[in-house]
Amino acid sequence: MNESKIELIFDKRNKVNSNNYIPKLDIEQKDLADIINNKFLRKELSLPDIPEVEIIRHYTNLSHKNYGVDTGIYPLGSCTMKYNPKINELIARLENFSKIHPLQEENQGCIELINELSMQLQEITGMDAFTLQPAAGAHGELTGLLIMKKYFEDKGIKKDKIIVPESAHGTNPASAKMAGFSIIVLETDKDGEVPLEHLKFAMKGGDIAGIMLTNPNTLGLFERNIKEITEIVHENGGLCYYDGANLNPLLGTCRPGDMGFDIIHVNLHKTFATPHGGGGPGAGPVGVKKELEPYLPRFDNSDNKSKSIGRIRSFFGNYGILIRAHAYINALGKEGLKKAGQIAVLNANYLRVKLEKLYNLPFQRICQHEFVLSEKNLPNDLTTEDIAKRILDHGIYPPTVYFPLILKGAMMIEPTETESLSSLDKFVSIMMTIFEEAKTNPEIIKTAPHNTPVGRLNAVLAARSPCLHD
Ligand SMILES: *Cc1c(COP(=O)(O)O)cnc(C)c1O
Repeated sequence: MNESKIELIFDKRNKVNSNNYIPKLDIEQKDLADIINNKFLRKELSLPDIPEVEIIRHYTNLSHKNYGVDTGIYPLGSCTMKYNPKINELIARLENFSKIHPLQEENQGCIELINELSMQLQEITGMDAFTLQPAAGAHGELTGLLIMKKYFEDKGIKKDKIIVPESAHGTNPASAKMAGFSIIVLETDKDGEVPLEHLKFAMKGGDIAGIMLTNPNTLGLFERNIKEITEIVHENGGLCYYDGANLNPLLGTCRPGDMGFDIIHVNLHKTFATPHGGGGPGAGPVGVKKELEPYLPRFDNSDNKSKSIGRIRSFFGNYGILIRAHAYINALGKEGLKKAGQIAVLNANYLRVKLEKLYNLPFQRICQHEFVLSEKNLPNDLTTEDIAKRILDHGIYPPTVYFPLILKGAMMIEPTETESLSSLDKFVSIMMTIFEEAKTNPEIIKTAPHNTPVGRLNAVLAARSPCLHD
């Protein structure tokens, strides 16, 4: 362990350095008592009188309609729906973690875990310091960009534009906009990568703060010119932001810090177990190089010498997710993490080679943890949506569809390292059966799904005017 880092967390009496971690709460004791005694309840709740067994049956029956990683393959591209080892859950539920309040003094162990996880993430990514506060990947992006903005403001340099390649994740331009940047989009070249000449030209603008790069990009491809990209941006006075939400394939193999990146976020919910889909709690820690460390979030920013961007989340962030990531990293160790990344890449390429025989694969090269098919050449004018719905009939979850937007009718497939060969083969055989059906019996696909609790929904209507009761 790095001694100087521990100093940051523990002061001389081995107590929490409260400036870093503990926010001051403004709740009066009296209000707290009123909240506990339901003083604010205006009328009694009317709860139905139902026998326990009926409630249990109701929820058990509902749970049987669920589908999750524990039920079968979940090849949802960009979400890394890997199996979450049950030991993670056990550890996260230990009372000393789950029943402690951040304002309690006896939380040194919790802070030690934060400290250790930060150092592990530094080692994995090649960065110098981390904040674990951000509650999601997109929240990490916003945090990282606010750091970038503050850095230039602090230096008195006006830079209010940022380059976001077309192959970046959709949250990138949204976060950049929220942080107050205007966005310059770079089109993807014929190999699915950032065109260096266009990047050079765009960087000449002068007021460009830097680049936000998703790598592997949303086509599942590694940017082969990544070092040139960071060099071009640095030569022109910009900073490089790495969207590391999909760090899974790179684990133990290469590090964004060594490629020249200044800021990175990682998604603990994805790369470090805790599946992503469904919008549950997440954590998007942000790592920076030494020069940017003073700008990292802090709880207490009253000291006006501080350069910090301030507090961006209450207390320690989504602590339960930090525990799971810490458990996962420690269970796998250095070699285990590397192997996880390698098998994720192997599994994706296995599926890619099998499926490109029938389905259209626009970028024909080795992919990282995922690859993207398109709906081009599907028999009988069938669409990606039709195929996805028919996959449900075969009892598994479909891939991510219609993302990335740069490819018409995209189907983004990410098996993850936790699928076995037989599970991958089963997926291939379902996809082949569906392709066969597409040729011989397209009607059954157009009207799918047939075996699910509800049939095909009108997705547009469901989004525009959702019915929130039954
Ligand atoms: C998932 C993802 C994000 C956003 O993460 P959230 O936790 O959903 O906010 C950003 N970038 C990439 C590449 C992603 O895959």
